[in-house]
Amino acid sequence: MDELVRKNIRDLKAYSCARNEFSGKQASVFIDANENPYNYPYNRYPDPLQQELKALIAPLKDVKPSQIFLGNGSDEAIDLLFRIFCEPKQDNVVAICPTYGMYEVCADINDVEYRPVLLDEAYQMNADKLLSACDAHTKVIFLCSPNNPSGNNLDRKEIEKVLESFKGVVVVDEAYSDFSTQKPFRLELDKYPRLVVLNTFSKAWGCAAIRLGMAFANEDVIYYFNKVKYPYNVNLLTQQKAIEVLTNDQQKMHQRINMILDERQTVMEAFSQLPICQKVYPSDANFFLAKVDDANLTYNYLVDKGIIVRNRNSVALCNGCLRITVGTKEENTQLLSALRQFH
Ligand SMILES: *Cc1c(COP(=O)(O)O)cnc(C)c1O
Repeated sequence: MDELVRKNIRDLKAYSCARNEFSGKQASVFIDANENPYNYPYNRYPDPLQQELKALIAPLKDVKPSQIFLGNGSDEAIDLLFRIFCEPKQDNVVAICPTYGMYEVCADINDVEYRPVLLDEAYQMNADKLLSACDAHTKVIFLCSPNNPSGNNLDRKEIEKVLESFKGVVVVDEAYSDFSTQKPFRLELDKYPRLVVLNTFSKAWGCAAIRLGMAFANEDVIYYFNKVKYPYNVNLLTQQKAIEVLTNDQQKMHQRINMILDERQTVMEAFSQLPICQKVYPSDANFFLAKVDDANLTYNYLVDKGIIVRNRNSVALCNGCLRITVGTKEENTQLLSALRQFH
């Protein structure tokens, strides 16, 4: 792992928080961090390593607390991967295409070459094709399963082949895995030392507003995440809210997932019956991709009706496609009845 990491990051002397330097003994007087003594609990810096929160996430996700990084959305973890592993103007990353837009944005921000490799017509990945896009400067491969915007799981055998063959870091973004029946790759951390799995509170947990993303990886990867991140990257309000939902709302979360999955089937079937619909692609997520006669026209018609879907018309392999998130029963009915009136 040390050899994969950028030299400046390997040699970096990380910022040391006041409260990091003290540990062990019980203490009651905290006059070490120039905080205000009033206005508890907001006067205190939050736990930089979010230990209470990680202790709740670990058994739920079947990983060790030491295999968890928490960030300001998964987007923070994505950005950190570039900052840790990729030398600007020199290294590159390889990713499936089409996929989640943030991998490329973060590559551009960090001045790292981004190499997209087209999926096939069924949005499936060929491991050999992906691997042949790699060279000695490829540090990270980005996979996303279930994939966004296509909604399908990538073929497990192909992911395994990438994990077995590639000598750099393989990211499997499982933001939508709670909506899928496929076995999550975070359970394979022991088998694959350079695997990083991304999860988020933004989708299944219904907590996009609190900005909490998770990365699961082996300790030597987590070490570098912690070394490079902002010291207090997850604020107290977010930590408290996440602890609250993990403690109280697990059942509610599962009920909501089931409602969304039921609705997904209903909406996809109804959508496929619409005169404008050419194809509904299979989905393992809380959204689906559909090909329609004229995506731009349909999109604009829906906007006029106050209904916003995602127009993916200009995305590679998604010509004529709209990406539709499964909403409440009422929202889905509004979408379908608007489209039934559309000629
Ligand atoms: C929505 C989404 C995320 C979530 O990002 P956050 O920053 O955690 O909100 C991550 N990956 C993919 C592929 C997504 O679609």
